Amino acid sequence: MAIVGRPNVGKSTLLNRLLGQKLAIVSPKPQTTRGRILGVVTRPDAQVAFLDTPGLHTAKGGLNQRMVEQAQKALADADVALFLIEAGSPAIDAATRKALEQVKGAGKPVFLVINKIDLLPRARLLPLIDRWKDLHGWAEIYPLSALKGENVAGLLDALVARLPEGPALFPPEQWTDLRERDLCAELIREQLLRQTGQEVPYSAAVLVDRFDESRREEGARGLVRMSATVLVERESQKAIVIGKGGMRLKEIGTRARKEMERLLQAKVYLELFVRVEPGWTRSAKGLRRAGYEG
Ligand code: GDP
Ligand code: MG
Repeated sequence: MAIVGRPNVGKSTLLNRLLGQKLAIVSPKPQTTRGRILGVVTRPDAQVAFLDTPGLHTAKGGLNQRMVEQAQKALADADVALFLIEAGSPAIDAATRKALEQVKGAGKPVFLVINKIDLLPRARLLPLIDRWKDLHGWAEIYPLSALKGENVAGLLDALVARLPEGPALFPPEQWTDLRERDLCAELIREQLLRQTGQEVPYSAAVLVDRFDESRREEGARGLVRMSATVLVERESQKAIVIGKGGMRLKEIGTRARKEMERLLQAKVYLELFVRVEPGWTRSAKGLRRAGYEG
């Protein structure tokens, strides 16, 4: 199942909710999700593999272009597409229409998922559905709130009903294909997005320099040591990330570390560095090093 839609409509929040676990990082900023993220739900009767994607938006080369390609690839691989919109945004604007065209082009059954209904007065839901229902031959229309969990279980059941019959693709204990070290890097990037303003996020990446699990213990709280570097494009951004007296970097590290400890069920010792690398989002080499090569 490919989860697609404009940036910020709640795709990653929905994936986490479907999984019952945090996998994809979430922030109020567009472009939070950069790669395609696999999340697998296994239940006694079915296994559903979800692909969370960066938002469908107009590509302008470099990192943006790669992000849109990821969404298109996920659509091509999927049996069903979930096209997310947010109930709060009133108009069907040009960008949304364009995203819809991309989804139609994939030729798959499409669920229209109207997210964030917690923000919409009930009386406005039916008119909203009316405006959308004829824009495509939707397989189904599902209003829900990914944040509150409202109606999400119903969506999962409806999706399971659409699955082709076949063997499970993943072992039941596998819930993603991301490595833990990369999930940890994402948790750092999530804090970067949340704790800096508009200037930093789009040109920041997190590189893992070291991820040492030698002192991690099975089932106990052993220790994982991690060093990572935050890559930014300009000196001014480096100053913002570090903050006065290093306070912001410290806060980013502390919060990310707590999330990692929850994820890994181990104590984490985290070292963070910041480095300026001009133009990395536009150079193929920079993108590759930051992990965005397809
Ligand atoms: P994505 O870019 O489509 O992956 O969107 P995210 O999952 O990162 O969410 C973008 C923002 O919308 C975040 O601030 C979320 O907390 C918020 N959000 C997501 N789902 C809901 C929802 O059902 N209700 C409300 N009120 N906010 C939501
Ligand atoms: Mg996302």
